[in-house]
Amino acid sequence: MIFVKSEEEIALIKEGAEILSKAHGQVAKAIKPGVTTQELDELTETFIRDHGGVPSFKGYKKYPATLCTSVNDYVVHGLPSSYVLQEGDILSVDCGVHYKEFHSDAAFTYPVGTVSEEVMRLLKVTKRALYCGIAEAKVGNRTGDIGHAVQYYVQSHGYSVVRELVGHGVGKKLHEDPQVPNYGKPGHGAKLQKGMVLAIEPMVNLGKKQVVQEKGGQFRTLDGKASAHFEHTVAVLAKKVEILTTYKYVEETFQF
Ligand code: MG
Ligand code: MG
Repeated sequence: MIFVKSEEEIALIKEGAEILSKAHGQVAKAIKPGVTTQELDELTETFIRDHGGVPSFKGYKKYPATLCTSVNDYVVHGLPSSYVLQEGDILSVDCGVHYKEFHSDAAFTYPVGTVSEEVMRLLKVTKRALYCGIAEAKVGNRTGDIGHAVQYYVQSHGYSVVRELVGHGVGKKLHEDPQVPNYGKPGHGAKLQKGMVLAIEPMVNLGKKQVVQEKGGQFRTLDGKASAHFEHTVAVLAKKVEILTTYKYVEETFQF
């Protein structure tokens, strides 16, 4: 069932999304070699609660943390731990905020110190693929238009799109209909309507598309090569798409 949101509800989601975006800005400032993913999780939880929000992921299906922190060949759902970030790592940080009854959801993949040119290119392409998908989130289009735009851009750079995990509607529940795959055919899938709020989130592998899920729930690439993940929460409006989360606070630290 798809829930469309009123202008007032979208305004509330945007308020929560602002807290979430600022939380990512805090993570960006803290990321460096020597920091543990557990430390990033703690500082983010404190920041969100200090700003009137609640971490969406904590307690969701018994998930114990505020962030998903997925290093290098981990795709998503990595659990924060005592892992010490190393120069040259990449770290996907996924986070959600619950605020005034609504969720928002955003992810960014951060380079730790200096990373290889090959991996930096993966991050740039995945981030641009997100915006290619967002550009198709228009009234009358379908989810397949979003997925196709992401897939086309990614594959034209020689990378592959993860199939097992998809974007989704966001609202009073963290994951609502429709599913928003990062692959697909134009003109196929759920029709986009005014008032839909979507999390669009390409997961892109440097090598092959296959992933495996480990016991703890985290996904990892089968070939052991790096994977990147970027996500925004967006609202489909009558005449445009509005990106409710923003990377402007992250960009105080990372410009790419
Ligand atoms: Mg997310
Ligand atoms: Mg999501």
